[in-house]
Amino acid sequence: QEPKGLNFVEQLVLEDLQAGKNGGRLNTRFPPEPNGYLHIGHAKAICMDFGIAEKFGGTCNLRFDDTNPVKEDVEYVDSIREDIHWLGFDWGDREYYASDYFPQLYDLAIRMIKEGKAYVDDQTSEQIAAQKGTPTQPGTESPYRNRSVEENLDLFQRMNAGEFEEGARVLRAKIDMASSNMHFRDPIMYRIIKTPHHRTGTTWKVYPMYDFAHGQSDYFEGVTHSICTLEFVPHRPLYEYFVKELADESYCPRQIEFNRLNLTYTVMSKRKLLQLVKEGLVAGWDDPRMPTISGLRRRGFTPRAVRNFIDAIGYTKYEALNSISLLEHAVRDDLNKVATRGMAVINPVKVIITNYPEGQVETVEMENNPEEEGSGTHQMPFSREIYIERDDFMENPPKKFFRLAPDGEVRLKGAYIIKCTGVKKDSDGNIEEIYCTYDPDTRSGLPGSARKVKGTLHWVSAEHAIDATARIYDRLFNVENPAAETERDFREMLNPDSLKVVEHIKVEPYLAEIAKPGFPLQFQRIGYFTLDQDSKPGELIFNRTIALKDSWKA
Ligand code: ATP
Ligand code: MG
Ligand code: MG
Repeated sequence: QEPKGLNFVEQLVLEDLQAGKNGGRLNTRFPPEPNGYLHIGHAKAICMDFGIAEKFGGTCNLRFDDTNPVKEDVEYVDSIREDIHWLGFDWGDREYYASDYFPQLYDLAIRMIKEGKAYVDDQTSEQIAAQKGTPTQPGTESPYRNRSVEENLDLFQRMNAGEFEEGARVLRAKIDMASSNMHFRDPIMYRIIKTPHHRTGTTWKVYPMYDFAHGQSDYFEGVTHSICTLEFVPHRPLYEYFVKELADESYCPRQIEFNRLNLTYTVMSKRKLLQLVKEGLVAGWDDPRMPTISGLRRRGFTPRAVRNFIDAIGYTKYEALNSISLLEHAVRDDLNKVATRGMAVINPVKVIITNYPEGQVETVEMENNPEEEGSGTHQMPFSREIYIERDDFMENPPKKFFRLAPDGEVRLKGAYIIKCTGVKKDSDGNIEEIYCTYDPDTRSGLPGSARKVKGTLHWVSAEHAIDATARIYDRLFNVENPAAETERDFREMLNPDSLKVVEHIKVEPYLAEIAKPGFPLQFQRIGYFTLDQDSKPGELIFNRTIALKDSWKA
């Protein structure tokens, strides 16, 4: 019986398993190049590679595709490990590096030279590109194409010994300069790089190209299904060509492609993300505005929300642009279930309850999370002076303003009904203090609390509230698809309001006490927040993960 609701990749894999291919084994791999931090696009690949292995009882390798020392670094290796774990996947001891295969890859290159399937080309990359031809026009054969095996062997070995400068020579596969598939027109297998490698140091001076390294690495590792994104479709015949040098009937890895994740109002290219980091346009790879996994984590997104979003968009064979609203919806949906509720006032104005005894403090009980049974309650202090949001008071309110106004009544959530009796203004006419009286019978739980008033406000006790800073984040770009605006520099499309820092917000003591990075909080009526890692004792900083409701106007 076939499981229902399989995506097309799962269907293809299931067919292979049922046909007993590769001895009925399933082994996938997630192959990041350690040249940047992972982003949410990678999360889609991770969910596929690890998810499909879990689903069908297979295994998934983590393979660092570290074939270009110029851009790679151990910092990236460490962050990649952390991010995959955060998403909830584990590769156990199946951690591999393409660089571990450099000796085997080199040996295979030597064998192909001996068999007349590869040659050293002395031309520059510009000359080689100029001879490529077009999809309708055959390319031109290199003048070095018919070198003797001996000369090719000698030159390739000397390339690796460091005798030639970078760019002076390359090793090319000798396939077909007239092929209708451009990737078959004598693709480059090896180039010279003199930058030391973060794992192999200066052992190698020649480094394999993606097309030569990837399929072979899959083969060496026993990978059965090499799942990647659609831009590799035209590379697939070359993948198969190189893999055939090693594979046979009993075991042959297979490449399958799905559509990339592209999100509105952000960019997904590592090159561009690196540029934002290098130029200080964001505060690092884990800036909460970044689409990186570390950025989403710091912002307060949960792994469950990210995975639910990826499940919702699914896997297809067609490129698409996914709306960031869908991701935000998944985040709200999950945080609503798990966030601990509390009160914080972002833009405070003081309210003095004139008929409440000076010096008296009582506590009111607040539910931690009405969505989660057994999440309990906490105590919140109430006293004569409180803060409410400045926006929750209007001196001359329009009709249907159900918050506080002169002579009007509102309920303070969890506490009493109060009535506004007056205000104090500074010399510029700004409201400094609001005066109210409270109705002692209306405390939540007392019979008088049944009295209906239209508005309910959040509040904190002025004396007890903890002073903190809020970082209010918005979308990083103000253009729906920055990558599509090829005429413009993507940096011009950054949203100048993507970060607003609000100092002196007032947070109820319980929230300040339980806050820690990644722990989800809901500031009632405001949004979801989590503590930022930059916080210090007495200097709390809260990241707004997302507002309670979507208020984005394009
Ligand atoms: P870039 O092109 O920005 O450098 P990349 O695709 O080269 O990114 P890798 O580290 O090579 O980055 O990617 C590792 C894996 O993640 C690959 O299998 C790749 O197909 C997949 N991947 C990368 N970006 C996306 C995306 N936006 N959606 C889905 N999968 C992706
Ligand atoms: Mg790349
Ligand atoms: Mg890549």
